[in-house]
Amino acid sequence: MKQFDVIVVGGGHAGTEAAHAAARMGAKTALLTLRADTIGVMSCNPAIGGLGKGHLVREIDALDGIMGQAADMGGIQFRLLNRRKGPAVQGPRAQADRKRYRAAVQSFIFGFENLDVIEGEASGFIMNHGVVSGVRLADGSEIKSKTVVLTTGTFLGGVIHIGDKSHSGGRMGEAPSNDMAKTLRSAGLPIGRLKTGTPPRLSSKTINWDVLETQPGDDSPVVFSFLNTSPILEQISCGITHTNEKTHEIIQKNLERSAMYGGHIEGVGPRYCPSIEDKIVRFSDKSSHQIFLEPEGLDDDNVYPNGISTSLPIEVQEQYVASIVGLEDAKITQPGYAIEYDYIDPRALTSALELREIPNLYLAGQINGTTGYEEAGAQGLVAGLNAARRVQNLDDVTFSRSESYIGVMIDDLVTKGVSEPYRMFTSRAEFRISLRADNADQRLTQKGRSLGLVGHARFDAFTRKSELIESAKQDLGMLSFTPNELKKKGITVSEDGTRRNGISVLSLPNVDKDTVDEIKNVTAQYPVEIIDQIGRDALYSTYLERQKRDAEALKKDEAVIIPSELQFVGMNGLSNELAQKLERSRPTTLAQASRIDGMTPAALTLILAKIRQLQISKAS
Ligand code: FAD
Repeated sequence: MKQFDVIVVGGGHAGTEAAHAAARMGAKTALLTLRADTIGVMSCNPAIGGLGKGHLVREIDALDGIMGQAADMGGIQFRLLNRRKGPAVQGPRAQADRKRYRAAVQSFIFGFENLDVIEGEASGFIMNHGVVSGVRLADGSEIKSKTVVLTTGTFLGGVIHIGDKSHSGGRMGEAPSNDMAKTLRSAGLPIGRLKTGTPPRLSSKTINWDVLETQPGDDSPVVFSFLNTSPILEQISCGITHTNEKTHEIIQKNLERSAMYGGHIEGVGPRYCPSIEDKIVRFSDKSSHQIFLEPEGLDDDNVYPNGISTSLPIEVQEQYVASIVGLEDAKITQPGYAIEYDYIDPRALTSALELREIPNLYLAGQINGTTGYEEAGAQGLVAGLNAARRVQNLDDVTFSRSESYIGVMIDDLVTKGVSEPYRMFTSRAEFRISLRADNADQRLTQKGRSLGLVGHARFDAFTRKSELIESAKQDLGMLSFTPNELKKKGITVSEDGTRRNGISVLSLPNVDKDTVDEIKNVTAQYPVEIIDQIGRDALYSTYLERQKRDAEALKKDEAVIIPSELQFVGMNGLSNELAQKLERSRPTTLAQASRIDGMTPAALTLILAKIRQLQISKAS
């Protein structure tokens, strides 16, 4: 029988990051997936990143993961969203050539050291005294391993809906994973149903592009990976069109025939990616919705009409598409559909993404109730890292909310659970001023290096960049200007008699650094991205100090570990409802307990007192 350290089940966005991370950590890893040729497939939109999501991709990249590099290798239109707002809420996004993105992901997986790819369907687990020790396959064979990471996406009990027709499927054209769904249900895990949908794909040849507005990429594109500086592929524009009253009328008239509105789907869908049916019902006062027509590749006839995902019957999809300007003769190459699938309540997981009730089994991606490639990839990296560390008898590694969006997402999932597919937003991060997409390497690459996740090439590039930042900061820090001197150079500051150095001048809003010769002389000696980085840090310097204090307070609470034997139910002074919530998500630190819905300062003090009591009784 084959034997591995880590088996990762699933070759999607979570699975590829998990397998690559485990292999980078030196664990003998197998990526077991239904079809090797679908490794890295984008199930829905051909795009990576966006607001909040772009931060996750940068963090994956800072830890030497795949997604950012693959997005650069497949990127055909780069846009920095929120460019006019502050850097903290700007989100890098790339539209990807679907085939080239998949090929890029596969180029990282196939032939990678310590990593074998196996085709097959996992149907259950080999158990040894309640601990997972391998995977059973649908063909009856078994593969042994010390840990398993399950990343089955939308495939668990997947049902595809188009109008009143439905059939089993993991995504269009692929079989679902029903045996594994049964195994997980029979293990008594907390399981629910969620749903998501995708729009019809259109043939580019049949779209009347001449009458449409176009949206080009940015003039100075911002790429994802800290290892790259510019796009690799030819850049293209998207088309823009809109739904209209006729479109809405067709959809309204057929609402009952939509899988979602006809009552065929029980799962909850993503509020932030509503179907066109949803938009028309929820925003009934709007007579038009924007649609981005995104080519799926440089040599691909398919176009992804972003904004009209649907579960209406095919003939209705044809009617409403034809009612839209530019799409009058558009041919549908694949109908839109909705998919319903099982997910596991993420409150059953630890912050290392291990199931509390089934040791050595880790879950990552859509199976944990999230939506999106980026959320899946980031979880995959954490699960793969921890699965490898367990094999190496090392402690779990967790990420704090104060250091990363990865930390924010996992903490949200394991403490609050999900009531709808979880999507990342910058508003979820309370430390967003310091957690910027542009400084993800400064926040995480050193940590990744000490964990063994980050290779030489990236670490050398990071070290060079950090040295340049330090040197430029020193040079700028040595400059000194009185308010009067600055005034003479056209910069007005308060006449407070305080001398300001070059960095604080850069932090002044709306200051053109080139108007001050002394600053210009320094900045001319460094690459522009180094100076931009210092400028962004300087812009937020006063807030950063405040956030640093808050982050330190959070770290203090994160250091208070809640012992696993602490019983919440029956704790004197704790309401029954709160005790049940705490029992369900079993927070591991006081910081996590503080974020449980309904938590009060009094209850926290009580829990802290109980922890202290337990510590004293253990010590005596
Ligand atoms: P997936 O990418 O689904 O990968 C799962 C992998 O597991 C596949 O490789 C599969 O072959 C493998 N697998 C499954 N079962 C087994 C088994 N038993 N044994 C071996 N291998 C197995 N996201 C959004 O953000 N917004 C959207 O609007 C959106 N719409 C979507 C619409 C549709 C129709 C679908 C299908 C997905 C949509 N998504 C959307 C979700 C997005 O595709 C996922 O979030 C993302 O792909 C999840 O990554 P993952 O790695 O968890 O799973």
